[in-house]
Amino acid sequence: MPNLIDPTSANILIVDDDITVIQVLAKTLTAIGRVRYALNGADALRLALQEPPDVILLDADMPGMSGFEVLSAMRLQPSLEQVPTIFITSHNSEEMEEKGLASGAADFIGKPFRPAIVAARVRTQLRLKLAVDRLRTLSAIDALTGIANRRTLDEALMMECKRTQRSHTPLSVLMLDVDHFKCFNDTYGHGAGDDALIGIARAMRACTNRPADLPARYGGEEFALILPDTDGAGAMTVASSLMANVARLKIPHTASGTGFLTVSIGVGCFDKESARWADCREGLRDVSASSPSACASALLTTADQALYAAKSNGRANAVLKRFDGFMPE
Ligand code: GH3
Ligand code: MG
Ligand code: MG
Repeated sequence: MPNLIDPTSANILIVDDDITVIQVLAKTLTAIGRVRYALNGADALRLALQEPPDVILLDADMPGMSGFEVLSAMRLQPSLEQVPTIFITSHNSEEMEEKGLASGAADFIGKPFRPAIVAARVRTQLRLKLAVDRLRTLSAIDALTGIANRRTLDEALMMECKRTQRSHTPLSVLMLDVDHFKCFNDTYGHGAGDDALIGIARAMRACTNRPADLPARYGGEEFALILPDTDGAGAMTVASSLMANVARLKIPHTASGTGFLTVSIGVGCFDKESARWADCREGLRDVSASSPSACASALLTTADQALYAAKSNGRANAVLKRFDGFMPE
């Protein structure tokens, strides 16, 4: 079996109130990765939050915050909840081991320990984490274009609908559909069609500047772009720059009016001109308000209606439609 761990990149955090234990472990584990250490729970949490480790070796028994408390606190942090934790403790009893594993630790090692065994167990945890991380990435991205897939888009849009209500900020979503793409495939072949989709994904990435902007492949030749904290005017600017980026690809398409591949864009937006913006700002609770997921899909439907209008307008253009529903909490 190939060794999947890149020894230079594994990020290891050792937590123990006994500096000699840290020294022994660090000496063994520097061969596997970059080692950081903390002498107490509070420092451990601070270091872990600064840069989430790939594995943590955690002393269960420490003055102040115990290892169990550190683990519980980590489970509340989205960036740390999946980090494998190996308990190291001098309470080498079966009850303690049971308690450690039941609290969510990945492994349990009693003191005194053999450094070579600790190293082997750390390697196992790193190998597992790498495999899980790869699966998680694969399930979130679209295999052809490398951007987010529909599932990631749906989850992100739901989160953004919640956030927009909480922070009283606007939210826009773009739906993009390639013009006359069936004809493009028929003329140039599916391979060229796939290459065009990859180019469009690149064009989408190029017109998004903010970290929270999320380009995604919605399915087939349709893409979506979430633009948090962006009003209708802002979203139309992004739509224009996206159409310009696609035009710059200069993908020949004889059946198109311009001779090149074009896209149509529908923008759905919730901003101060939306019918229920003021209601949401005042924190009005609406018993008829639907769930965040229903709201996310209603916003997408708004964008889709705008897209339909853009197609009817003759394609290669963008149309804006305001979402007039209520954003739920
Ligand atoms: P319109 O301008 O109205 O959007 O016309 P259209 O031909 O683009 O629309 P339609 O929805 O009829 O066709 C979509 C076509 O997109 C069908 C299929 O040939 C092509 N398509 C969908 N997914 C893929 C894909 O993953 N790869 C390739 N190469 N083609 C795809
Ligand atoms: Mg289509
Ligand atoms: Mg199309």
